[in-house]
Amino acid sequence: MLGGSVGFHVGDVVQLKKTHPCGSTEWEITRTGIDFGLKCARCGRRVLIQRAKFEKLVKRTVRFAVGPEPASPPG
Ligand SMILES: [Zn+2]
Repeated sequence: MLGGSVGFHVGDVVQLKKTHPCGSTEWEITRTGIDFGLKCARCGRRVLIQRAKFEKLVKRTVRFAVGPEPASPPG
C-alpha cells in the first residue's frame, strides 16, 4: 500500500503547474490508478499521465468530488 499521500478521486478538479495550449491550468480527473486520466476543464481534451508525473504537476485541488462536508439531502 502507498498510504500517506493525498488522495485524488475521479471528478476532482485540479490546477496544474503546466498550462495547456488552450490556456487552461484546470483539469478534471477522469481516472485514477497507475496512470491518471485528465480532461481539460476548458477545451475538453483528454490525456493520460503517469501518477508520479501527475503528483509533481499538481498545484492544488480546485474542487473536491468527495469532500468532508456531507452532501445536500436529496429532494
Ligand atoms: Zn485545454
